[in-house]
Amino acid sequence: MSNITTNIRMYKLEELGDCFLVTFSDDSKDYNVMIDCGSYWNRNDSPKKFKRIVKNIQETIGNNASLDLVVATHQHNDHMSGFMHAKNAFTSLGMEQVVLSWLDDETDPEAIAIAEEHGKVMNKLRNIKGIIDKKKGGFAETVKSSLSQLVDERTFKTDNSLTGQATQFLKSVGKQPIKYLSPGDILDLPGYDKDKVRIHILGPPKDSKSLKSKNPRKKESFHTRLHDLSIAIDDIKEVLDTGHADKHFPFNKKYRQYPHKKDKNDKVFSHQSTKTIFKEYIDKKYDWKRIDHDWLSSVNRFALHLNGYTNNTSLVLAFELVESGKVLLFVGDAQAGNWRSWETVPWKDDNKKMNLEEMMGKTVFYKVGHHGSHNATIKPTLDLMTHKDLVAFIPVDKRDPNISSRKIPWKMPAKNLYKELKKKTKGRIARMDEGKIKYSSNNWPRGSFKEHELYVEYRIKE
Ligand SMILES: [Zn+2]
Repeated sequence: MSNITTNIRMYKLEELGDCFLVTFSDDSKDYNVMIDCGSYWNRNDSPKKFKRIVKNIQETIGNNASLDLVVATHQHNDHMSGFMHAKNAFTSLGMEQVVLSWLDDETDPEAIAIAEEHGKVMNKLRNIKGIIDKKKGGFAETVKSSLSQLVDERTFKTDNSLTGQATQFLKSVGKQPIKYLSPGDILDLPGYDKDKVRIHILGPPKDSKSLKSKNPRKKESFHTRLHDLSIAIDDIKEVLDTGHADKHFPFNKKYRQYPHKKDKNDKVFSHQSTKTIFKEYIDKKYDWKRIDHDWLSSVNRFALHLNGYTNNTSLVLAFELVESGKVLLFVGDAQAGNWRSWETVPWKDDNKKMNLEEMMGKTVFYKVGHHGSHNATIKPTLDLMTHKDLVAFIPVDKRDPNISSRKIPWKMPAKNLYKELKKKTKGRIARMDEGKIKYSSNNWPRGSFKEHELYVEYRIKE
């Protein structure tokens, strides 16, 4: 039996985003897999950049070859928009088989219910954004700016442009009928020799509790259901529409004082101490102290939650090189709830299944989740990745404005996780911005690492 050489190429996007080409080669043929392709910022030069990448892919795999398998892990721009930026180039490159997660299956009743629920909440959030955008002055500006900081502005556009379009494009472009994958599926590479490379699907989980839980520690986990979020958003909207909604005030109405209203004796705040308090309260100088609309900042929390929820819908694939048993793990942006569910995956083939401990122990390549953020790699599972050859690729670029120019920068990669990854891989980490990281003991196998203007690449010999 001939052994397989695997090349894992991470394209350098110069911002946050995933774009991977994985090639499995034996003596007779190559098999090319693309996993995600997207840009966070979708700037004017994005089409040019992605067309260049597709051109490079075509040169790499050969002029007459097309992509054998294309995977899009979840519906975020930074994983999918590239398929639209270079749509024509991808069409002429050709895709044999496209796979998406069960959540993208428009005929799956559970997927439909979740999509509807999500859609409703998103619409409400869009409404709120519309209302806040029309409001002027101190607090509205604060909410506006923090909303736009926390959530990709494009999320609010009703055409939900690039990601939605990319999903539709991928559903129709493959030469074979699209496949939707669920946890527990074990399949050979579609169209490749049997029993050479198997794909084990770990996530996204089918149970909604795991799907909605994104925080790593029990204490921090977000148990609020989308349903509750939806009610809470209604409440916020009511206050915005009507000006007041008694049920949202912490104190009984009779204790309430209005700075510009007269009391029942027609005196404007006869009581001296109240006067003083209000004078100070409405003084521009002390604007920062005002709490009138503080509760509105929870809109940001909802928005963040929804964003994290989408990350949690990531399709998680473990590629098993059958001969050697080595495993390559691609987790998209899966968050804690998705990771936790891997313990209880209902494997559909008893002869081919691996338990989690075994699978993680055989993992020699880890595509780090969510650009290295703190809640997209959980400790108990990372602890199981004990292979001496472990290598990690992090699709992170510190020049991304989310990291370099926010008031509160996104911590990517998160400090403690990064430290642990360095230890576990003995420094064999590559990033989009730094290539091979500098670390005292990093000893990549000779000839296994390649850096190019457009990508970094790691070669595994089985
Ligand atoms: Zn991402």
